[in-house]
Amino acid sequence: MTWRELKDARRAKGLCLHCGLRARLSDGGYCGSCLRKRSASRRLLYSRRLRSALCPGCGGERDISPGVIHCRGCIQKARVRNARYVVDRVKAAERMVRLRRERRKEGQCPECGSRRENPRRVCCLKCRRRNGQYKVAKV
Ligand SMILES: [Zn+2]
Ligand SMILES: [Zn+2]
Ligand SMILES: [Zn+2]
Repeated sequence: MTWRELKDARRAKGLCLHCGLRARLSDGGYCGSCLRKRSASRRLLYSRRLRSALCPGCGGERDISPGVIHCRGCIQKARVRNARYVVDRVKAAERMVRLRRERRKEGQCPECGSRRENPRRVCCLKCRRRNGQYKVAKV
């Protein structure tokens, strides 16, 4: 089995892509333990590169000026990523606003699109309950 096949199999089963032992966190390819290890080693690498006056992103030379800690390539990459991210976020927010408005007009719950059992309430019972739990869990 190639590494790629292994990864696909783990992904299909909802397992961590790195260790394949524990369940993957919903927002990413790794389990909590691998994620922690990963960010720790990343932090270490980052500070080591910073200390040796290298670009912390790729370990290459800082080719702009010693005061700019990233190299030209990494800054360019970050710029592209940010631009895409912002556009995506704005688009998603716009889509959500439109969807909510339509659902409300149709007498549906704006959160999930199911029927509101009480037309005077904005959301359905399920969403109200979920939001309530969410708030409680957050405190
Ligand atoms: Zn793992
Ligand atoms: Zn770099
Ligand atoms: Zn709902």
